[in-house]
Amino acid sequence: MEKIPNFKIIGSGSEEEKAKVEDTLEKRLYDNRGFISERDIDRLKALEYPKGDVEHAAINFSNRYTSALLERAGIPNFDILANNYFIMPNDEYLKVADPDSNATAFTLRKVTALNALKVRSKPLFIAMVILHETTHLKSFLSVELSEGEKAEDKSLFRDGVIVYSSEKKDEEAGFSHSHFKGLQEAIIANLEKRAFSEMSKLPELQDEIARLNTPEILEKRKKISEKKKIPIEDILWVSDTTEDYNWVAYPRTRFVLDYVCDEIQKEFSDEYKSSEEVFQEFSNAQFNGNLMTIARLVDGAFGKGSFRILGNMDTDANSAALCMETLKKLRLQKA
Ligand SMILES: [Zn+2]
Repeated sequence: MEKIPNFKIIGSGSEEEKAKVEDTLEKRLYDNRGFISERDIDRLKALEYPKGDVEHAAINFSNRYTSALLERAGIPNFDILANNYFIMPNDEYLKVADPDSNATAFTLRKVTALNALKVRSKPLFIAMVILHETTHLKSFLSVELSEGEKAEDKSLFRDGVIVYSSEKKDEEAGFSHSHFKGLQEAIIANLEKRAFSEMSKLPELQDEIARLNTPEILEKRKKISEKKKIPIEDILWVSDTTEDYNWVAYPRTRFVLDYVCDEIQKEFSDEYKSSEEVFQEFSNAQFNGNLMTIARLVDGAFGKGSFRILGNMDTDANSAALCMETLKKLRLQKA
């Protein structure tokens, strides 16, 4: 069986239970029955919407695209099979995922659930959502297993650049917390944006690309772009008949990461010739889990303790705006 190359188990748990955790996760790559209970899987399999040409092309593209990113981070590739993507009816989706989300990657199960109501019949948008969630599933993953714990008691310790508090600390504090949620989504959504021009060349998407560029739809996209202050190419779907639209996720947190990369490049111009090269360090950390380089760069450009501040950024626009304000202040003090 294929090993998941960027998966680690930490903690004082027994080797036997740790081996069980590893075995289960690897099986998930090929058998998604563990996604929900055995009792419900047949019902879900009957209810899920079939994947069409667009979805299959997007899954293949996403595996190809992310394999190059893994390689750049020094990690051998592994693929997520089409079976592990479920396009679910709205009411089924709401039973397992955040109601505000369009899709969710269950990283410990190596499965993506997509809400049909929000993503289906939006070819370019669903393709980009598939890429986004595939990137989550192929990111670095680490779980903690403490002494005496069984495999199923494991807790998430790292997920991409996200760091979860240890079980011991949770016990002391009475709650668990995590850092770098906003940064993680910024990295993934930025990778998604970088894939856009290649993705939009897929033959399966050409009808939709043409529709998005008809004069009426283009006019709608322009208006949204001006009103929301986001680039027009970020708008991935617009309704023909209503005011509905979709864009590349997390624009405000992406802007923070863009700013951070620009300033790091200025501070370390000998090491990095472009802001893009700096961004690649963030991308690498997402896949290989090594936070040392990006911590050094952020603290180097914004002052000691800044990496922690970036870690406090959440995924919402408000949190991103507050983080941006603080980082700009710190950068001024540093200069
Ligand atoms: Zn995400």
